[in-house]
Amino acid sequence: MIDYRQAQQLVLAQARSYGHEELPIEEAFGRVLAESVYADRDYPPFPRATMDGYALRSADLGKEIFTFTIAATIYAGDAAARDIGEGECYKIMTGAAVPGAADVIVRREDVREDEGKAFLFDTQAQPFQNIARQGEDLRAGDVVIGRGCRCEPAVMGLLATLGKDKVKVEKLPRITLLTTGNEVVQVGEPVSPVQIRNSNRWLLEAALRKEGVELHQFSHVPDDPQLLRRQIGEALGGDVVILCGGVSAGDADYVPEVLGQLGVEKLFHKMAIRPGKPTWCGVGNGGVMVFALPGNPFSCLVNTILLIKPFLQACWGLPVPTPLGLPMGEARKKKTPLDEFFPVHLSGAPARLFAVGLNGSGDIRLGRQANGLALHAADSGDLSAGDEVLCYSFV
Ligand code: AMP
Ligand code: MG
Repeated sequence: MIDYRQAQQLVLAQARSYGHEELPIEEAFGRVLAESVYADRDYPPFPRATMDGYALRSADLGKEIFTFTIAATIYAGDAAARDIGEGECYKIMTGAAVPGAADVIVRREDVREDEGKAFLFDTQAQPFQNIARQGEDLRAGDVVIGRGCRCEPAVMGLLATLGKDKVKVEKLPRITLLTTGNEVVQVGEPVSPVQIRNSNRWLLEAALRKEGVELHQFSHVPDDPQLLRRQIGEALGGDVVILCGGVSAGDADYVPEVLGQLGVEKLFHKMAIRPGKPTWCGVGNGGVMVFALPGNPFSCLVNTILLIKPFLQACWGLPVPTPLGLPMGEARKKKTPLDEFFPVHLSGAPARLFAVGLNGSGDIRLGRQANGLALHAADSGDLSAGDEVLCYSFV
């Protein structure tokens, strides 16, 4: 039995890139960039009006000129036909390019317009007021995004801004999910009084989708060593195998034995945590990574957060997710000498953690309110309200 942090290190040491591919921007959302992205031009690309108003020459204000003739109206996307001279201004709209002749914009609210003339109330305008200057955010050629950045919504917008209609991204691993258990039936199928439905298939599939990966293959396998050998053997041809159930000490828990027979080298078996203790992890031929998780839904989720998600992110060159220190909103009793993980609801301002009550790891109510996974550390006693604990965001 090992510390979960040690288990994480063993798993992370196996992380590797699965190669790169070029995708059109339409398919890039959620993927991780495998290239640096540069500014193709200055940003802003032109001096940009940040307010609706009147663009004029600050030198005129120095000469105490406060009434201007409106030479033209410039809308966003327009280029001015001519420069303004002394006593002239442009009427200009937010987002329009400020012509070189003008160096200040006086807001519409600070001007009275009448019969082609603008009368200024704001006589204190400073040079470049209400103008975003060309290149003040970025210079052409600057690195804007480094490698190892996930294409989240703001990044997608940035890619489009920079003209990247194609991007090089990390390839996804081919992941096979095998759930096990004679008592487990697929949702939608008839279920006898002594059977349960396969919830983990959907929990794990959704957790992977949130990481941007679609399952390569899924099968459910009964607790039969021969069938397990065949199915796991096939799955080992991919990049990652996730098994669920059959790793504990029961008489029908054949998974560790079968993995050993198939030549999968054990990294560890059992972590000093609750729930999720019986987890088995190993590496097969060609570096195929194997996560064999206990079958309880909460155990499955804990392992996904502690091992699978960090592994995938490390493979793509993303920083490994670290927990935040957050205060408890209520007391909690320590139940075991192990590192105990418990689902929490993070809410309020200032934010606090409230335990989502569960009757053990088999309690199906997990999905009702929890948005975090908190750690009641092995070396800590009972917790009081206000005590700080580590908390991972939910998958
Ligand atoms: P196991 O790890 O196989 O001993 O299973 C532990 C508990 O999780 C048992 O109560 C199983 O019935 C349950 N379980 C196993 N696999 C699944 C699954 N795919 N979906 C929901 N519950 C499961
Ligand atoms: Mg089982």
